[in-house]
Amino acid sequence: MPRRNKQIKSLIASVQAGCKSKRRFDNEQSALKAADNQMLLNLSLELSVYKCDYCTGWHLTRRVKNTDK
Ligand SMILES: [Zn+2]
Repeated sequence: MPRRNKQIKSLIASVQAGCKSKRRFDNEQSALKAADNQMLLNLSLELSVYKCDYCTGWHLTRRVKNTDK
C-alpha cells in the first residue's frame, strides 16, 4: 500500500533528522551520564536515552513533564 510506504518513509526521515541534530553517545552509560549532568543543571528537565536505529549510537530525548501533578 502506497500510503503505508509513505508513512514508513516519513518515519525514517524523522529518525534521520533527529539523529543528525542530536549528540551521539557510543554507549548507554555515556548517554545516561550526560542526561544526569543536564538534568542537574536544569532541574525542570527530564531526559531519557534511546538507542538509535539509524546510527546505532545513543541519543538523549526530552521527556515532557506533567506539571499538573
Ligand atoms: Zn542516531
